[in-house]
Parts: sequence; C-alpha cells; structure tokens
Amino acid sequence: MRRVLYFLLAAIVVLVVAWFFAGLPGRITAQIGNITVEAAIPVVALGLLLAFVVLFFLFRLIGGLIRLPWHLDRWRSARQRRLGDVAVTRALLALAAGEKAGARREAHRARRMLSDTPLTLLLAAEAGRLAGRDDEAEAAFRRLSERDDAAFLGYRGLLRQAIARDDWAEAAVFARQAEAVQPGTDWLRQERVRLAIRAGNWAEATQLADGAVSRGALAAAASEAEPDKARALKLARQAWKDDPALAPAALAYAARLRADGRESRALAVIRHSWTLAPHPDLATFALAPFSDTLARVKAAQRLTEANPTHSESRLLLARTSLEAGLTGEARHQAEAARDAGVNQRRLWLLLADIEARDHGDTETGRAAQREALRRAATADPDPQWHCSVCHVSSPAWRAACPNCGSPGGLQWSADAPASSPVQAVLIHDPERGREVL
Ligand SMILES: [Zn+2]
Repeated sequence: MRRVLYFLLAAIVVLVVAWFFAGLPGRITAQIGNITVEAAIPVVALGLLLAFVVLFFLFRLIGGLIRLPWHLDRWRSARQRRLGDVAVTRALLALAAGEKAGARREAHRARRMLSDTPLTLLLAAEAGRLAGRDDEAEAAFRRLSERDDAAFLGYRGLLRQAIARDDWAEAAVFARQAEAVQPGTDWLRQERVRLAIRAGNWAEATQLADGAVSRGALAAAASEAEPDKARALKLARQAWKDDPALAPAALAYAARLRADGRESRALAVIRHSWTLAPHPDLATFALAPFSDTLARVKAAQRLTEANPTHSESRLLLARTSLEAGLTGEARHQAEAARDAGVNQRRLWLLLADIEARDHGDTETGRAAQREALRRAATADPDPQWHCSVCHVSSPAWRAACPNCGSPGGLQWSADAPASSPVQAVLIHDPERGREVL
C-alpha cells in the first residue's frame, strides 16, 4: 500500500514538473561556430533531462567495469568462505563419528578454502591423529604452536603426542612451553603431575598437586626418595598432615621420628592414624620394639584403646593374645569380630589356630579346625591395596597406581569395587624388576 502511495506521489510530481516546463513560453537559441540551434524551452528541458539520465547510467557502467575485478574477488572469497564453513562442519561430524578418511578429506578441504586458521589447523591435526597419521598431526600442531593466538593448542597437541609415544623428556619440554604461553591451567597442571610421577620426581609432583590429587601419597613417596634427612622428615610430616588416614604416610613420618629417637612422638602418630583408619602395617610398626609376647599384647591394647571394637583392632588383639597364650581373650576378640560381620580368610585361619591351641590334637580340636579351614576356603578375601581408578590389586602400596599411573589411586579395602571392569592382580616380576599383570 505504501509503495502504491509513493508511486502515485512520484507520478504527480513528474506531471507537475512536466506541466510547468511545458507551460514555459519562449525559445532558447545556441550558436556553436556557424551552426545555430534553436528550440522551445520544454524541448530543451527534456533534452537536458535525457542527457543527464544517459550520462548517469554511462558513468555507472564505467564504474561497474572498473570495480569488476574487485567484485569478482569478493564473490570468490565469500564462496570459498561458505564452502570452507561447510567443510569445517563436515570435518567435525566425521571426527565425532570416527570416520578417519572423511575427517582428513574435509579437514584438508577446510584448510584449502579457509587457509591456516587455528580452527582448520586443529581440525587437520585431530583428523591426522584419528587416522594414525602422526606426521600430519605433528606438522599441524607445530604450525599452531608458531601462532601467537593459538600456541597453547599446538603445545597441548605436541605434549599429548609425546606422552602417547612415551617420550617423557620431550613431553616435559612441551609442558614447559605450554606453561609459558598459558600459565596456571588445571589440565596442564595435572599433566605435569603425571610427567613428574613418570620421571620419579615426587617432590615436584607434590608441589604441583592440587586438591584433586592425594598430596599425602605424593609427599610420602617424595620423603622416601629424598636423601637429605631433614628434608625427608619435613616431607613425611607434610604427607601425614595432608592425609593422616593414609597408613604409608603415617609410617613414613613415624619411621623418620623413630630414626631420630623420638619414639613417643612416632607412636602418637601411629595411634592417631590407627584411630582414623586401622591398617596392619601400623600395628607392625607399633609392636616392632617388643619381643616379649605379653609386652606385645599391652602395646596392642595401647594402640587400639581409642577404637577397641573396630574389626582390625579385634583381629590384632586376638592375634597378639594368641601369641601370648591367652587363648580365651584371643577367642573372645576373634568371635566378636566374626559376630560383627567379618568373614575374611585371615579371621578363619586365626580361629583355626585358636582351636588348635585351645583343644590340641583332639577329635574336638581337629573337627573345629576343619570347620574353620572350610570356612576360610570360601571366605571373603583379605583387605589389600586396590586402585580406585582401574581397580587392579597391588600387593604393596605405591604413590601412583603401578597399572594406570593414577596418583594416590591405591586404596586399602577388603574387596575391589563391584563395577570393576578388570579383575586382575599385580605380581612382582623379578626379571622385569616391576609388577606385571
Ligand atoms: Zn590404577
């Protein structure tokens, strides 16, 4: 409607102007050399109007021809950008779907259309990684690392590649370069912790570890590896302060204190940790100075006085009482643990020993032993170290899981988690000098 009104208005204006010029009296004469031209004013006005229109369109045409190459370039760039965007989307879809050839093809097309931008370089690198073309991926990551706006992405990719091929020295170099261009990122901190652990640099791992990682475990390992006694004691104290419920941390600190002659402080540390999380190694440490069996019973009582009804306390009291010939007390403690729900192999073996000591080589004693041993064969497994990440069992504690390398991953528990995808136990291989599955 509005356009119709504008058209009518313009038509009225043209008619009024035409009527005005048509109504003007007189003639215009022009003489150029020997030629004289004479015309009525409306004709001259119309001629001038026509000349203006012709010149206007002529100049527009010339301008268009002059700007034609620029317009062609612009059109070509827009088309390339559009096709490049399509290739980027297709490359992302192929990467998500795991289509190796498609991802590489589309990433190369995107790079050809859009040139080397952080996005196209990253796509090319990831497509190369997916296709197993590490050389292509490395070249793209190196190009990224040379850019000021995406150097971190490049170093991150190079670091991951170095870790994948177990090149720890080069990985450490890339980690430092990544830290230099983008300091303080959580991901990089965790990677540097992993690298420090792989290199056995526990002190650096302890410094870098944050709340997500058991600093107590790392500090305990750092204390064990530290040759300087004073620094080792400091690290052991830090380990115990960070995680007093971790038996190896308490043992590391207590062992340093005992070596310094601070026995009462060492036992106080062990007692505190036993109160939080009893562990047989804590009892071994606390009872080590005593050879007399009754003295060992008293030491066990002192150790367990804060939590005497804990199953670990009852088993310790039962074992030490049996060693001292106190079979009544041993039976009481073992049966109390059993009545509390403990059904572990070590409990039934202890009960078999108690029966043997109590009844000797009699029919009653042999029957009771057979029953206890039968129960031991089908009992729950004894507690041991399990990795909370990969669920593999380990015969000895390590600051990082020997199987998956998770720092602080080993937890002392009676059984592996039910959701365990791997049911395996690490055994020590003397030829390789390490644990194997
Ligand atoms: Zn693990």
